[in-house]
Amino acid sequence: MGQDDAAPSAATALIHHSYVPPAGFEAVQPPVHKASTVIFPNTQALLARGWKDKSGYSYGLLGTPTTYILEERIATLEGGLQTVLMPSGLAAVTLVDLALLRAGDEVLIPDNAYGPGKDLARTELARWGISHRFYDPMDVASLAAALSPATRLVWLEAAGSVTMEFPDLPALIRLARAHGALTALDNTWGAGIAFNAFDIEPGLGVDVSVHALTKYPSGGADVLMGSVTTRDESLHLRIKSTHMRMGYGVAANDVELMLRSLPTLALRYHAHDEAARRLAQWWAGRAEVAAVLHPALLDAPGHAAWQRLCSASAGLFSVVFDERYSAAQVHAFIDALRLFKIGYSWAGPMSLVVPYELSSMRSKPAWPGVLVRFSVGLESVDDLLADLAQALEALR
Ligand SMILES: *Cc1c(COP(=O)(O)O)cnc(C)c1O
Repeated sequence: MGQDDAAPSAATALIHHSYVPPAGFEAVQPPVHKASTVIFPNTQALLARGWKDKSGYSYGLLGTPTTYILEERIATLEGGLQTVLMPSGLAAVTLVDLALLRAGDEVLIPDNAYGPGKDLARTELARWGISHRFYDPMDVASLAAALSPATRLVWLEAAGSVTMEFPDLPALIRLARAHGALTALDNTWGAGIAFNAFDIEPGLGVDVSVHALTKYPSGGADVLMGSVTTRDESLHLRIKSTHMRMGYGVAANDVELMLRSLPTLALRYHAHDEAARRLAQWWAGRAEVAAVLHPALLDAPGHAAWQRLCSASAGLFSVVFDERYSAAQVHAFIDALRLFKIGYSWAGPMSLVVPYELSSMRSKPAWPGVLVRFSVGLESVDDLLADLAQALEALR
């Protein structure tokens, strides 16, 4: 203020404007709070600031009311207690490795895990002196053989990426736990709906659950985010400390979109599930394919484990075309599809399709033909079936 008590200049007035948060305004959706700077009422409050729990705020990167709400809702969804948000699902996988492993440790990864997580182990983790082994998640003895005195962390994924095998999670968790290794599950497929990662059986669950929120929690194919959820406070603090030191954060408007989509997550999950099962059943009766990979199908790998542990399935399945069809023929089928678009990711409203070259993805590819992964959207199932039928003409 000037000496003569004149009104402040516009530059100051536009910054130190009066602001009163709305009283008596209650809405269905929470507000979007944005901040890098968080203002402390006095020096003592600044000196006493904390970051370990949600009792206060100190800097936007460490949490805002908006990110706290999303963290709490994801923790609730997954049956955990604490959640840390990351800018993508892959970044969430990375954070778990960085927080829980050090040079000399070994991490075990299922052979059918999300591919970029395997790449991270082969490249960065190897460069930092952390070794890895891939195990066959459908063979408990394969995990037993891979465990060594250096094993600190065992990754799990259910169902497996692209090939959709559903492993015997309780047996794998028991084995890792008996060995003293932590377990981390990529829970993107189950999404907190198909099974409870922290209570797979009474008294038995994973230590860490990672979720690509990019998929079902977003549901819109327009936001990238990931989460790391735990039940154990000390494990959470290890992950949260690394998260803080590495400077990870998520944007408030992306959090807003997640919060907007979460209320319909269960509804969407079941709709995608029902549609995918109808399409998978349709493929199961077709002579063009050698295998339909969906854990709810009777002869699918891991069907018994899926049936024992799950109450639902994601909207994903793959088909392996009969060997008599060349890759070029299968690609012509894909190109002839009109409703199924060609693109990565899943759990959005639009149905998607991607061909995969199994021989480059698995230590022991079980099927020789060309694999096509379908992500079933929310279109009318009859329209999707008609699209598949018309595109199959391109195979001939
Ligand atoms: C998509 C996906 C990820 C990675 O999520 P992004 O947000 O795309 O990085 C990780 N794991 C699984 C199983 C996924 O499907």
